Amino acid sequence: MIKGSCACGRVRFEIEAARSMTHCHCVNCRKLTAASVATYVHVEKDKFRWVAGEDNIATYESSPGSFRKFCRTCGSMVPGQAPYLPTVSIPAGLFDDDPGVRPRLHVFTSSKAPWHEITDDLPQHPKWVPGFEPKQS
Ligand SMILES: [Zn+2]
Ligand SMILES: [Zn+2]
Repeated sequence: MIKGSCACGRVRFEIEAARSMTHCHCVNCRKLTAASVATYVHVEKDKFRWVAGEDNIATYESSPGSFRKFCRTCGSMVPGQAPYLPTVSIPAGLFDDDPGVRPRLHVFTSSKAPWHEITDDLPQHPKWVPGFEPKQS
């Protein structure tokens, strides 16, 4: 199993295998991760398991219907599931082991930080990856 944890170690999880890794440049992700770009590993729900600390998680509604999760003790963002995605999104910085995937694409490049320059050749999407947009109700 591939393991990950928050900064203080109270929240721990493991995955069987990762599906993909993406960079998100949206303002919410940048602020919530406090990084210039937020990198996520995407994992099928049935390949993800909490190991410890699920009762130590706080939730913040970053946009209507979209909930972000944090360790109550250290404030690290922890894995969460966007209602419009079939996968669990794990901030890549939480991994203690190599998740075995590498960045595949950039999303929300239209709100990229002005100081951050994309220097790779990966596909760039101004907003969501087409076909993975939130369902509007
Ligand atoms: Zn923690
Ligand atoms: Zn984002």
